[in-house]
Amino acid sequence: MTTQSTLHTATPTLAPVMMVGHGSPMNAIGDNRARQGWQQMGEILGKPRAIVAVSAHWLTAGLHVRRSTDNVQINDMYGFPSALYQVKYAPASDLAVADEVLRLLGDGAQIDNNWGIDHGVWSVLCNMYPDADVPVVMVSTDGHATAQRHYEVGELLRPLREQGVMIVASGNVVHNLGRVNWRMTDGYDWADSFDDAIKQAILAGDFQQAVHYDRIAGYELAIPTSEHYMPLLTALGAVHQGERVTVWNDYRELGSMSMTSYVFGK
Ligand code: ZN
Repeated sequence: MTTQSTLHTATPTLAPVMMVGHGSPMNAIGDNRARQGWQQMGEILGKPRAIVAVSAHWLTAGLHVRRSTDNVQINDMYGFPSALYQVKYAPASDLAVADEVLRLLGDGAQIDNNWGIDHGVWSVLCNMYPDADVPVVMVSTDGHATAQRHYEVGELLRPLREQGVMIVASGNVVHNLGRVNWRMTDGYDWADSFDDAIKQAILAGDFQQAVHYDRIAGYELAIPTSEHYMPLLTALGAVHQGERVTVWNDYRELGSMSMTSYVFGK
């Protein structure tokens, strides 16, 4: 289920970078492939000092950072079974890490404590780290930024890794809600081919292909709106050239949703 590619020698002391496809909120509970992958990856990676989480579901004008000692859980999903709303997940935050994030981002970011851990983040982390004992600092997705800017935000955040902070970007490489088919357990051809093109670019270390996703056939269907895709670019920006990449949860479902996820540097 996983593919690994080592292009050069990775630096072993760095915390890893993750791009995780979260998909339907229902992946948080019950028996499903995504959840199994998240549980396994949590065990493989172990616990970092803290996580900086970049969420597709915290969509803002400009880049926002929560700076607080705590986190509130945001149930930003509607019409799902009540069992999903029983999930409680609100790990502490870390002021020192939040301050470091703000310092690295400089004038390009602002403090905003009106958001917390949304389902794009808690659905994944409550399975990776079920004891909620890894502090999480939330960073938004800037809906006004260019693809290149999202990549550069990752570059700015990259030094966090030297301090044991894992960067977790949560979105989906292919995400077209208008085309979701709840009966499909795989992907449409266009979803498979776009997801594969991105994967091949990443495995080749050609991250600029991912930045220029609008040159890839089928991008209009794969990325009708860009907020779920952009976290991938922030993750890629935080990767050093030649670091090991692990592809996991490599599948499509509901026709128009890619769950394909990546870990770099571990
Ligand atoms: Zn989502």
